[in-house]
Amino acid sequence: MNILLKTEADQKMQLDIQKIRQDFPILSQPFGESQKPLIYFDNAATSHKPKQVIDRISNFYACENATVRRGIYGISAQATLEFEKSRERIASFIGASSSQEVVFVRGCTEAINLVARSYGGSNLGEGDEVIISALEHHANIIPWQIICGEKKAKLKIIPINEAGEIQVDQLSELISPKTKIISVSHVSNALGSINPIKEIIQIAHAHNIPVLIDGAQSAPHFKIDVQELDCDFYTFSGHKIYGPTGIGVLYGKRKHLQAMPPFQGGGDMIDLVTFAQSTFAEPPHRFEAGTPAIAEVLGLSAALDYVDSIGLDNIHDYEDQLLQYATPKLQEIDGLKIIGTAKEKASLISFVIDSMHPSDLATLLDHDSNVAVRAGHHCAQPLMQFYKVSSTLRASFAFYNTFEEIDIFIESLKRVISMLR
Ligand code: PLP
Repeated sequence: MNILLKTEADQKMQLDIQKIRQDFPILSQPFGESQKPLIYFDNAATSHKPKQVIDRISNFYACENATVRRGIYGISAQATLEFEKSRERIASFIGASSSQEVVFVRGCTEAINLVARSYGGSNLGEGDEVIISALEHHANIIPWQIICGEKKAKLKIIPINEAGEIQVDQLSELISPKTKIISVSHVSNALGSINPIKEIIQIAHAHNIPVLIDGAQSAPHFKIDVQELDCDFYTFSGHKIYGPTGIGVLYGKRKHLQAMPPFQGGGDMIDLVTFAQSTFAEPPHRFEAGTPAIAEVLGLSAALDYVDSIGLDNIHDYEDQLLQYATPKLQEIDGLKIIGTAKEKASLISFVIDSMHPSDLATLLDHDSNVAVRAGHHCAQPLMQFYKVSSTLRASFAFYNTFEEIDIFIESLKRVISMLR
C-alpha cells in the first residue's frame, strides 16, 4: 500500500528515498521462502551499506592493499596517506579541532573499555566515583563496573522517569568531590530517548568532571559537533553509520589523550623499545597497537561522505516523519504498550504486547513478511528491570526505510497477533 504524502516536499523526499534505496543492494534482494524483499527495522543494531562503501573496500583490496605507517615503497605510502586522510575526514565529520584527537578503535565497546582502563585506571582510587545513567547499554556499564571493582571505586546511577528520560536535576546531588568521570549515552538504544547531554556536560564541567558521550545511536542520526558539545570523549561505531564492522572512533580532547597511558601494547604505538623499558608514541597512535583495520577506515570515510551527501538534517527530518507516522498506528493496536515515551526521541520504537512474547512476535513477523525487528533486552538488562519486562520488540528506522514498509509491518503485526490470540 502506498500512502499519500501531504506536501510537495514530502513527495520529493519520497522520490529521493526511492533513489537512495537503489544504493543499498541488500534492500532489493528477495529473501526467505516468500522471496519478498527485506523490510529492515533493526538499524539500531547495525545498518546496511551503500554500494559506495562496498566499492571503496573492494577497491582497496583489489588495487591498493598494503600496510600503513611502515612501508617505504609506493603503495604503502599511498595507503598511509589515504588512511590518515580518512582520520581528517572523520575529525571534520564530528567537528574535532584536530585529527590527532581521533583514535581508531573497533567500535563503541572498545572505546569505552579504552577510556575506563586508561583514564579510569590512572585516575580512579579507592572510594572514588563514576556516574552513568539508568538507561545505558551494557557497553557503557560493564567496563566501568570492572574498573570500579578493581580500584574499589563506586558506580553511581542517574535515575530515569517512567517515560525513559534522564532525571538531570538529580545529577548535582549525585556529584561529589570523589566523582572522577561521567559516562552517558546520547540516545538510548532500547528506548530511543535523546538524553540532555549538553546539560549533563555543563553540570559536570562546573565541577571539573570530564564526560564521555556514547554516540552509538546519535552519530548516524544527527549532526555532532564535539567542540560545541564540549564533551571530553565521544565515541561511535562504523557499522551503525552505514560503514563496515570492526571500526569505530574514539574522540578525546588532546589534553586527556596526552595524559593517558596506553590501552594495549605492541607495534606502532611505541617511540623507543628496550628490554629495560619503553616509551610510547604521541596520541592517537599511542592507542592504536598493531596493524589497524585499514580497509574499514577507508570504508568508514566513504560512509561519512555518503551520509553527508544526503545531509544529516534531511536524514533527521525524514526519520522523525517515520517515527511520527508509526507511533500512533502502533498505539491503536489493542494491548500494545510503548516502552519509552520521552518527549525527545530518535527514530526507534520499543514495545510489548499483553501476554505475548517479543521473540514469538519477531519470529512470526519474519516468516509472515520478511520484517526484521529486534526482540530481546537490547543489552540493557538494568533498564528492562526498571520497566519490569524481560524483553521488548524494537523497530528502529533508517533513512532508507519507507512509510509503505511501516504499513506492511503494522498489517503483518496485526495478523501475527491474531494468530497468537
Ligand atoms: N552503546 C550503545 C548505545 C549501543 O546501542 C551499542 C550497540 O548496540 C553500543 C554501545 C556498542 O556498540 P558496538 O557493539 O558497535 O561496540
